[in-house]
Amino acid sequence: MKTVLVTGGAGFIGSHTCINLIENNYRLIVVDSNINSSPKSIERIRQLFKNKSIDLSDLLNFFHGDIRDKNFLNQIFANAKKDKSPIEAVLHFAGLKSVEDSFKDPMLYWENNVVGSLTLFEVMQSFNCNTVVFSSSATVYGITSQKSVDESSVINPNNPYGQTKAAVENLLEGIFKSYSDKWRIANLRYFNPIGAHESGLIGEDPNDKPNNLFPIICRVAGGTYKNLKIFGRDWPTIDGTGVRDYIHVMDLADSHRCALDFLLNNQPQFLNLNIGTGKGTSVLELIQIFSDVNECDISYEFCERRPGDLPVVIANNRKAIELLNWCPKKNLYDMCLDGWNWQKLNPNGYK
Ligand code: NAD
Ligand code: UDP
Repeated sequence: MKTVLVTGGAGFIGSHTCINLIENNYRLIVVDSNINSSPKSIERIRQLFKNKSIDLSDLLNFFHGDIRDKNFLNQIFANAKKDKSPIEAVLHFAGLKSVEDSFKDPMLYWENNVVGSLTLFEVMQSFNCNTVVFSSSATVYGITSQKSVDESSVINPNNPYGQTKAAVENLLEGIFKSYSDKWRIANLRYFNPIGAHESGLIGEDPNDKPNNLFPIICRVAGGTYKNLKIFGRDWPTIDGTGVRDYIHVMDLADSHRCALDFLLNNQPQFLNLNIGTGKGTSVLELIQIFSDVNECDISYEFCERRPGDLPVVIANNRKAIELLNWCPKKNLYDMCLDGWNWQKLNPNGYK
């Protein structure tokens, strides 16, 4: 059984990926500062498996700490080595993710996302751990006239958050160029993950107020927010509202396990992969599907376009599908059903 380190594993995507990895026979060490998450997500994962009579005490170990703290990371790697289960790979989710906040405090974003990643890669290198799956983002792409973006599209992020993701990708490319006989690297460029684990035990629970569309729709459905403000009704799209490529978080989680398996079973290499469904959905279409599947009304009003927004962002996901033996399985109905189920069962998140 291979031991892998999951940074940011208490967060939204990390926690869902932990479930998939455990189900696929990986032993996990999770580190998280909980700056944007609750350690309760880890307890819920334990509960989920306990409900199936599986005890995770040896398979899931959580350590509270910050990836910028080199001593902390050294200790994690050293202890795993001492326990005769050295860390063989890292799934690197830890990072700050708000575009809006990154404009307010770009230095914090560069420090946390870039310096944090550099510290992690230095410690990995010193322990001869050279396999990493990095959480990148579709935000790294610049504006394009292509119907969907493929991995060779121009990288030109228009916000500090996206710039930190592009910087870490560049750093990893540099590392690979210098040590191409050793490092196995996959930058997964996520599109728009939504939904939750079907159990309703884990889901998205940001410490701050959410900025993304889906958690806001859930809050309107639950009555926490009066209505949804739709940013623009005159985009050049099917109905004038923004179009995005929404992917179920469990499909996204599965792409990590597939990328990890692929890297571990192949020659050292450097990969950039789009992780989306390849299908676009407008804001109004998403509201309609959410209302239909969950039998509720979502009230909304139109307002000004959000600065920096793009009309359409859709993944060309062919490369990931061909290479990884991965394919998104869940549709928008599943995403809306599971996302609302989590919100209904946990109106205050993990609190
Ligand atoms: P999240 O905020 O729920 O999870 C990130 C986790 O990292 C949190 O638990 C947070 O506490 C932890 N963290 C942050 N800085 C840390 C540090 N210095 N040391 C240790 N832990 C730290 O976000 P998420 O949605 O699960 O996203 C996971 C990753 O994927 C992030 O890197 C994010 O930028 C990236 N991403 C997310 C999306 C999205 O729409 N959710 C899209 C593209 C990329
Ligand atoms: N959006 C909106 N109201 C909101 C949040 C988002 O109309 O309160 C729109 C946004 O303009 C975009 C789509 O919903 O067209 C998805 O936005 P989100 O922030 O979820 O993802 P991103 O734009 O980062 O891909």
